[in-house]
Amino acid sequence: MRIVVVGGVAAGMSAASRARRQSPDVQVTVFERGDWVSYGACGLPYVIGGEVEDFGRLVARTPGQLRDRDIDVRLRQEVTGVDATARTVTVRDRETGRTLTEPYDRLLLATGVSPVRPPWAVTSLAGVHVLRDLPDGQAIEASLEGAKQACIVGAGYIGLEMAEALSTRGLEVTLLEKGPEVAGRMLDVGLQRRVRAEVERQGVDVRCGVTVEGLTGKEGRVTGVDTDGGHVPADLVVVAVGVRPNTDLTRAAGVRLGETGAVAANDRQETSVEGVYAAGDNTESRHRVTGRAVHIPLGLTANRMGRVAGVNMAGGEARFPGIVGTAIFKTFGLGVARTGLTQAEAEHAGLDALSVDVDSTDHAGYYRGAAPIHVRLTAERGSGRLLGAQLLGHTGSVKRVDVVAALLHRGGSVGDLFELDLAYAPPFSSVWDVLLVAADRAG
Ligand code: FAD
Repeated sequence: MRIVVVGGVAAGMSAASRARRQSPDVQVTVFERGDWVSYGACGLPYVIGGEVEDFGRLVARTPGQLRDRDIDVRLRQEVTGVDATARTVTVRDRETGRTLTEPYDRLLLATGVSPVRPPWAVTSLAGVHVLRDLPDGQAIEASLEGAKQACIVGAGYIGLEMAEALSTRGLEVTLLEKGPEVAGRMLDVGLQRRVRAEVERQGVDVRCGVTVEGLTGKEGRVTGVDTDGGHVPADLVVVAVGVRPNTDLTRAAGVRLGETGAVAANDRQETSVEGVYAAGDNTESRHRVTGRAVHIPLGLTANRMGRVAGVNMAGGEARFPGIVGTAIFKTFGLGVARTGLTQAEAEHAGLDALSVDVDSTDHAGYYRGAAPIHVRLTAERGSGRLLGAQLLGHTGSVKRVDVVAALLHRGGSVGDLFELDLAYAPPFSSVWDVLLVAADRAG
């Protein structure tokens, strides 16, 4: 059994490792067009910000370690074509330009996403970056030399993480966002405003409702960003305006795309073409709260999809359970977490939803270090079915979002949440934890 994996980061490497463990008889080959495999892209902002000492720390396993496990890792090899009838892939060696044809019995497309680059961001000016992979991170690091003013375009979670990272490195940071507020795709409006207030409090110049019109440069280096609200001087620009799934190969293979534009796969990660699997950021998943297809490209989803694909490709049986849209990030000292649906998303999905907001402290107010925490809990009116939660608080405190995520997986209600025996001692929580208070109010 010959398993070929295209893409060697989260989904691809999880699949390769899992297939190898599932069956010693399979031959596993991973083609990666870049220079790196098996690393945590999620850590990139923290290397740039100085929290993690170097990019090498993000690597989970080197190609050598993977080869020792009998996984044939081939770097700088780009898969350029798939013949799903002959069951072969065409591979181009990026160093020599030579191509070869490789047969497969099972093929996994774990090709991830690419950052969106608006036309104005397609430039040869130095100092203009996206942040998607490890070389992007290294390029930003190199551009930091002598840089004083950064402009980040896009205030999603990567833009907000980078606002912290670049401020920490001593740059003056301007954050531009086309939408009316920051973190627009993650939170309801009231919470978006709170995040913005915190980022502004940290000295970042946040400008929302602003459209970028172009870049200015001098002697080959960027000098600023032109917007419909004026010019923003900058010697470092990070463009973080979203991603799109890498689907060129799936099209070539005749694989069906889903309604979100990402690859459609069933819960065994099989695509519409026999023998071809898909996993990770390029693939859509089923939202367990709405039952609909969604494309929410995140790390655990990619790893889990890869694991499921690996087991199945090697002859085992595993199913991807779907997701509930859980996400978390931090910007400066503020932790931001969400799971399920926001009020706006629930309404958009046609649900009759109500949300309650609770402001409290993350542990007993009398115990030192108590910090504010805000919970917004969303439930279906009448039935009390939990629909989602959003939390803002001191970094680690918002990880309690996982309690709600667990209940969402099981279709739980606010009553179920209220009944939970949650851990309590003054340094960790109030006796009635903020989640229980929110559940009580929503009930
Ligand atoms: P990728 O990591 O994109 O890997 C796909 C690989 O396929 C790439 O290396 C690419 O070179 C290769 N490839 C593509 N096409 C070909 C081809 N034709 N031939 C050969 N190789 C090919 N997620 C979280 O859950 N939490 C976080 O905090 C978080 N933070 C993030 C911060 C940043 C800055 C970034 C960029 C992402 C973050 N993510 C986070 C998202 C997370 O990193 C991704 O969900 C995860 O990396 C997806 O893994 P993947 O294997 O599907 O895709």
